[in-house]
Formats: sequence, structure tokens, C-alpha cells
Amino acid sequence: MPMNALPVRFEGNSASLPIDLHMHSTASDGALSPEALVALCKVRGLTHMALTDHDTLSGVPAAREAAEREGLCLLPGTELSTRWSGHNIHVVGLLPEGARGPLVEGLVAQAEARKKRAAKIAERLEKVGLVDALARAREQAGSERPLGRPDFARALVAAGLVPDMAMAFKKHLGAGKAGDVKSLWPALAEAVGWIVAAGGVAVLAHPLRHGLTRRKRGLLLDAFRDAGGQAAELVSGFQNADATRDLSRQLQERELYASLGSDFHFPGGHLAPGSMSPVPRTATPPVWTHPRLAAILAL
Ligand code: AMP
Ligand code: MN
Ligand code: MN
Ligand code: MN
Repeated sequence: MPMNALPVRFEGNSASLPIDLHMHSTASDGALSPEALVALCKVRGLTHMALTDHDTLSGVPAAREAAEREGLCLLPGTELSTRWSGHNIHVVGLLPEGARGPLVEGLVAQAEARKKRAAKIAERLEKVGLVDALARAREQAGSERPLGRPDFARALVAAGLVPDMAMAFKKHLGAGKAGDVKSLWPALAEAVGWIVAAGGVAVLAHPLRHGLTRRKRGLLLDAFRDAGGQAAELVSGFQNADATRDLSRQLQERELYASLGSDFHFPGGHLAPGSMSPVPRTATPPVWTHPRLAAILAL
């Protein structure tokens, strides 16, 4: 297979494809700068990558320059925070033309929502004993980038209020907890609309990671597709093979394309760029064969 050839169908095996379409950098809650992330992707043998920081494309210019230097194909992207039926749902936008149209204003609104949300999260965490919560989260972020829940989780750990990140989410920041503030995010359909209007492909992120029943997940996929969404992550990091096959059926029924990614945030954990469970043989077409992406991903 030539260096940059990707399969046009998932034909089974595919233990490791040289592509990762969901990763984070220091532009959001990732540990590596965009340049360092691209360099690591290169070392890991990837030929195609998307940078998908939370609610921003601010890391893309630096990543693009690095990717050109390293000879990698970089797809601009973002992971938008949205609301659907009381859940915080993430939508990855794969954006060959970058941000344009209503997405430009949408990203400004997301940044503003993140700011307001951080103030609200801080207020709530002060009630459980984290004094100066906002300043401490900012200190953990180590830069002026928009704050996320992981910054507050680290602040809780640093203050000795919880033993680790997992417990910080379990007790204070995870779904349904005091620090899970989601009222400021746009509706799922609105965010999907921004991506589609920007000439991009909207990808439902990690559909297996919301603790939804199969039926409820089906309703989410219906709502997503009805809003104009074109794909979903069939594989996100490591996941159960039966669950993957089941999800693949749900995508097929709705004629959604299949995307995949590690959701990599930092080195040293169990994930690296490109690391994810294998994709089973499936009739669901890979997202890189979508007409909006096929040219830029140079099949
Ligand atoms: P936010 O974008 O501010 O809502 O924060 C969500 C981010 O928190 C996710 O993208 C993950 O990076 C991180 N996260 C979510 N759950 C956990 C958890 N249980 N442990 C550690 N990090 C988590
Ligand atoms: Mn994250
Ligand atoms: Mn996510
Ligand atoms: Mn992510």
C-alpha cells in the first residue's frame, strides 16, 4: 500500500490504519503543543490526522505548518460541546475549508459560553471547599486558553480535596454532578448546522461514551442525522468489539459514514495518537470517502 493510501472500505482486520481523526493539543485540554502533537503522529507512523480541540480551531495554523514540514496530511477540525435531551453531546467537525459562515460566530459564542461556564463551575466548587476556584483552575491550565473541566479536576486534586482526576469527575464534575454545567451550550442541531454550512462533515463523537441505552443512542443518532450530521465515530480509542459491531449496525441503518480516532489528550496514558480498537468488516463507508473529504485526504 502506498504511504498515503487509505482503504475505501472497512474489510476486516485493519488492526491499525495510519489515520486518527480526533486529537487534542494545548489549544484546548491536551498536553502537547500542536507542533509536538504532529511530531508524535509522525513518529507513530500516521499519514493522516485531524486536530479537534474543544470549541476552537486556534491550534490549526501551527499544526498545519508542522504537518507540511513533516509531510503529513492535516485536516482542520474542532469538537463542539452541545446539548441534547439533557446530555452533553460532543460533535466533531471535520473542516477542510476551516471555519467560515455561521461557524465563525458559533466559535465566538462557544468561547463566551466556556468563560461563563467556568465562572459558574468555580462558584459551585467553592461550595465544596475549593477556595479561589477560578484562579486555581487557571493556574492548572498554565495559559490563557479557555478553561475546561479537567483544569478544575486538577485544581481539586492539587488542593487535596480528591485523590485523583477520576474521583474529581466522579464526585464533582461528571454527568449530573454540581460542576457539570451544560446549560450554556447550543442545541445539537444548531452546532451540526454550523459545521455543515462551513462545508464540513459533522461527526457524532464517541457515541458509546454517554452511558445511553441502545434505544436512546438510536434516538440520538436519528436527531443527529435529521439535523444534517453525516458521520459518527465507529471507533473511539479502545472499546468492546461487540459494542462496535452493534454500533456499526446502527450507523448502517441511518446511512451514516464511520469515523475513527483515539481522542488523544496526553502522552504517558494508555492512549497514543493512532491507538484504537480495530474496525470490524462493515458495510459502513469510511468518512474519508465522503465527497467533502475525499479530495483533501488524497485517496
Ligand atoms: P469540558 O470540555 O470542559 O466539558 O471537559 C470535558 C473533558 O474532560 C473531556 O473532553 C475529557 O478530556 C475530560 N474528562 C471527561 N471525563 C473525565 C474523567 N472521568 N477523567 C478524566 N478526564 C475526563
Ligand atoms: Mn477533552
Ligand atoms: Mn469528547
Ligand atoms: Mn475529544
